Amino acid sequence: MDSSSRKFVFITGGVVSSIGKGVAAASLAALLESRGIRVTLVKLDPYINIDPGMMSPLQHGEVFVTEDGAETDLDLGHYERFITARMGKRNNFTTGQIYNSVLAKERRGDYLGMTVQVIPHITDEIKSWIYAGAGDAEVTLVEVGGTVGDIESQPFLEAIRQIRLDRGRMDTCFVHLSYVPYLEAAGEIKTKPTQHSVKEARQIGIQPDVLICRMSHPLQEVERRKLALFCNVESEAVISCTDVDSIYKVPGLLNRQGLDELVCKKLGLTTMHSDLSKWETLIYKKENFTHEVNIAMVGKYVSLTDAYKSVNEALIHAGIHIRAKVNVYPIDSEQLNEDNLHVLDGMDAILVPGGFGPRGVEGKLRAIEYARTRRKPFFGICFGMQLAVTEFARNVAGWKGASSTELCADTCFPVVSLISRARADSNSVLTPDVDTNGVMRLGAHKFTIEASSLLSEIYGRSEALERHRHRYEVTPSYLPDLVKAGLRISAHSADDKRFCEAVELIDHPWFIGVQFHPEFSSTPSTPNPLFRSFIEAALVHQRFTKVEQCAVVA
Ligand code: GLN
Repeated sequence: MDSSSRKFVFITGGVVSSIGKGVAAASLAALLESRGIRVTLVKLDPYINIDPGMMSPLQHGEVFVTEDGAETDLDLGHYERFITARMGKRNNFTTGQIYNSVLAKERRGDYLGMTVQVIPHITDEIKSWIYAGAGDAEVTLVEVGGTVGDIESQPFLEAIRQIRLDRGRMDTCFVHLSYVPYLEAAGEIKTKPTQHSVKEARQIGIQPDVLICRMSHPLQEVERRKLALFCNVESEAVISCTDVDSIYKVPGLLNRQGLDELVCKKLGLTTMHSDLSKWETLIYKKENFTHEVNIAMVGKYVSLTDAYKSVNEALIHAGIHIRAKVNVYPIDSEQLNEDNLHVLDGMDAILVPGGFGPRGVEGKLRAIEYARTRRKPFFGICFGMQLAVTEFARNVAGWKGASSTELCADTCFPVVSLISRARADSNSVLTPDVDTNGVMRLGAHKFTIEASSLLSEIYGRSEALERHRHRYEVTPSYLPDLVKAGLRISAHSADDKRFCEAVELIDHPWFIGVQFHPEFSSTPSTPNPLFRSFIEAALVHQRFTKVEQCAVVA
């Protein structure tokens, strides 16, 4: 598409972080998409890291992996769950990547001896990356990470200010999402922090066109007028985004206040009416659950739901479709021992998500053994699958001390070991941290599913595509012996490398480990089949247990 006809909505944040800028941006994008507009989203992260790949989930939350193998901010997960466009390497970039690129150009002599400066070189680079991320979308929503006023986000704000100047009002719209606190003691909301953050934005040349107020109480008319007056925004452009019990209610909440209508008007877009039926159906199902299941999520970042964001969402999606309220019980694997393993008794199924490093591993192995021996549905994702193989090797095959070389470098049975460079593929990246031989296998890879496996029943086809993020794999030379001991290898990568992609237990109702991350491809309208089947298995287990308990009582 002709780049001059593309339009941009910039979303900035004010007052505090973590007020749901990603969800607000994704919701507005979903509303515009429902009007027939081709949309995409771009996230700008002001930190210096090249990407969040090496950042702690405790600080940064989950690393969302795109089909083309980018390790990105978790907001890209929201984007994919709200709109149909798939995200990729170009939809998320950081200050680190911008400087990296500018410095490489400087070394190549591209700047012809000029002094390289934030303006125009860094800002030009940011602008060209925004345009690249926009691709052929008619409207691109650009979320600027951080909060207006942060030192590190200034070049990004300067770049979007310039884009407004370059392209004009009809092609750009500034949306500012701010936090409006409610003071219990005063019994009223306080608009001053928002006034200050808008003032801050105006100081750098950005006058918001729309103000979205994150707040706990609905906005009263008098407060709306006050915010409009002090922030120099039209009254109808002050939108409130109150707390809701599901992020999937946000598109409807914003639509009812005319946000998408307003943005279309500002951008001069004549479109069809928005169609919210998809979201309404979801909410209806979500509010009319007929069942309830309890899932134990055994991991090490249990206090932070953001660390396993996509897994939590994928469980919710599956639940919505089978009308089951999914209660996820985070269980800290570091605290799980023989004396308290009974916490798993009341659970209908157990999930061990992805992870890195030895901390908390013994607890995870205990939970896996419990699920295997008590015939409770078990779902192991990536590290969860590698540990399921380890547990099987130790306790079923009888290989004492079997382990992953990630956990014990000199184990006598390295059933899980580093992917060698020779086995790497085009999406793999060398990981600079530990072992220069190690590569991170990233992105979507096709795999072949074994006929008559539970996995083939679940996917209903012989091939599927899911995303990966791992440096270790089940050691290929151990596969024949693991199979002999009774482990079923239910999927292999479809390439000639034949990575072990999934395992299952034949004499267990539902015990599956997958090397890939099925959570990344789950959306509220199309839940991933594995999660769906897992929740169904949890329900079956629950019914079975109830019948058993009744039988004992009788
Ligand atoms: N630490 C494991 C590996 O690198 C698993 C990674 C993950 O769970 N994403 O292979």
